Amino acid sequence: MSEGLQTVSYLGATILFILSLGGLSNPETAKRGNWYGIIGMTIAVLATVFGPRVTPGGYAFIVGAMVVGGSIGLYAARIVRMTQMPELVAIMHSLVGFAACTIGFASFIDTSTVFPTAAEHTIHIMEIYIGVLIGAVTFTGSVIAFGKLSGKISGKPMLLPARHLLNLAGLLVVIYYGYVFATAGSIEAGMLPLIVMTVIALLFGIHMVMAIGGADMPVVISMLNSYSGWAAAATGFMLSNDLLIVVGALVGSSGAILSYIMCRAMNRNFLSVIAGGFGSAEGQAAKPGAAPAGEVSPISAAETAELLRESKNVIIVPGYGMAVAQAQHSVYEITKVLRDKGVNVRFGIHPVAGRMPGHMNVLLAEAKVPYDIVLEMDELNDDFPDTDVAMVIGANDIVNPSAEDDPTSPIAGMPVLEVWKAKTSIVMKRSMASGYAGVDNPLFYKENNRMLFGDAKKMLDEVLAALKV
Ligand code: NDP
Repeated sequence: MSEGLQTVSYLGATILFILSLGGLSNPETAKRGNWYGIIGMTIAVLATVFGPRVTPGGYAFIVGAMVVGGSIGLYAARIVRMTQMPELVAIMHSLVGFAACTIGFASFIDTSTVFPTAAEHTIHIMEIYIGVLIGAVTFTGSVIAFGKLSGKISGKPMLLPARHLLNLAGLLVVIYYGYVFATAGSIEAGMLPLIVMTVIALLFGIHMVMAIGGADMPVVISMLNSYSGWAAAATGFMLSNDLLIVVGALVGSSGAILSYIMCRAMNRNFLSVIAGGFGSAEGQAAKPGAAPAGEVSPISAAETAELLRESKNVIIVPGYGMAVAQAQHSVYEITKVLRDKGVNVRFGIHPVAGRMPGHMNVLLAEAKVPYDIVLEMDELNDDFPDTDVAMVIGANDIVNPSAEDDPTSPIAGMPVLEVWKAKTSIVMKRSMASGYAGVDNPLFYKENNRMLFGDAKKMLDEVLAALKV
C-alpha cells in the first residue's frame, strides 16, 4: 500500500472514530457508534499492517502476535461476566500503558532513524521520556485498579505518611533525570535515567491508586481511561504515526471529560484528581460499616406488589446488585405490568451506580426498557416527595443519606438519590451488608423504609408473579 493510500485510510478511520464517539453519547445511537468504531479500527489495522513501513519479512511476526493477542482477547471477552467488565477494562488500560513503555525503550535503542537536526532528535528523545512516563503510571495504576475492582486488593485507601512529599520528591527526580536523559548523547548514558524514571513512575502509579478510597474509584477508572489515551498518543509520537496520535488524543480527552463528569457527580475536585493527589484529605479509611444501627422493617414480595399496584408514581433505583443478580429483564417485566395499569414508572440513574460509567444504562437498554423513562439523578431527585414507592434494587452507596448528613462519612458530599423522601422506600438486597464504600446505610432504619431481603432476581420474579395474580 502506498503512503498516499495509507494517509487517506487513516483519515477515513479518524472520521469513523469521531462518528463512533458521537454515536456512543446516546443510547439510541450507541449501536451505530460501535459499528463505526469497529469499521474504523479494521481500516486502521489493515492500513498499518499493509502500509509502507512494514516489510514483507515482518508479516510473520505481526500475524503471530495478532493470533496470540486476538485469541487471548476473544477468550477473555467470551468468559467475562457483565459484573466483571470494569475489571476487564482496567486490565486493558494497563496493556496500553505497558505497550507505551516497551515501545519507548525500543525507540530509544533503535538507531535506524536518522534525524536531520539536533532539535528533532531532542524532540524524539523527550517524546520517549514522556511516553514511558505516562505509560508506566498507566500500567501499574491500572493493575492496582484491577486488583481493587476484583476484590483482590482491599478497597480501603492506603495512606503513607508524607505521601504528598514523596510524590513531590519523585516528580523532582523525574524532572532532573529528564534533563540528564535529554543531554546524555548516547544510548549507554541515557539508559540509567530512563530506567530510574520508569521505576519511579511505576511506583507512583501504585501509590496513586492505592491511596484512593472505595467510593472514589469511579473517578480513578475514568482518569486511567484518559491516561491510557495519552499513553497511546505518546506512542503515536514515538512511532510518528498520525492516526495513533489522533486516536490517543480522542481517548485521552474524552476520558478527561468523563473524569470531570464523574468528579462533579461525586462532588470532588477535578484538578486534585488529575494531579494524582486525590483521596488523602477526604479519604478517611472506610468505617467498618454494616454495624446494626436500629430496627429494620422487612416486607414480603406480595406486600411489595400490593404497594406498587396501589401507587401512582414509582421510581426504580438500580445499583450494582441488579447487575450481579442479572435482574434487569425481571425489572422490565414489572415495569411493563405497572405501566399497563397506568402507574407512572421511571428509573433514577446515579452517575456512579454499579461498577463502571453507564453500567445501569447498558443493562436497562439490554432489557429494552424505554429510554424516555430512564432519567439522570438530577432530573428526578426533586420528584421523590411526590413519589409513592421508591424501589431500590441492589443499590446501597448511591442512596445513602449519610452522604448528606454525616460530614465524617467517606462518601460525605457525594450527591445521592433521595429515596427516603418518597412515601415508602423499599430496598431489595440480600443482607445488611454495606456497599462498595464499606459504610453503614441509615436509610435501612428509616421509618418509611422496608427491606425486601433476597436475591434481586428471585425477589423481583416473586413480585412479578404477585402482580399478575
Ligand atoms: P453498592 O456497591 O453500594 O451496593 C450494592 C449492593 O447490592 C450491596 O450492598 C449488596 O448488598 C447488593 N447486592 C449484591 N448482590 C446482590 C444480589 N444478587 N441481589 C440483591 N442485592 C445484591 O452499589 P451502588 O450501585 O449503590 O453504588 C456503586 C458503588 O460502587 C459506589 O460506591 C461507587 O463509588 C462504586 N464504584 C463505582 C464505579 C463506577 O464507575 N460506577 C467504579 C468503581 C466503584 P447484599 O450483599 O446485602 O445483597
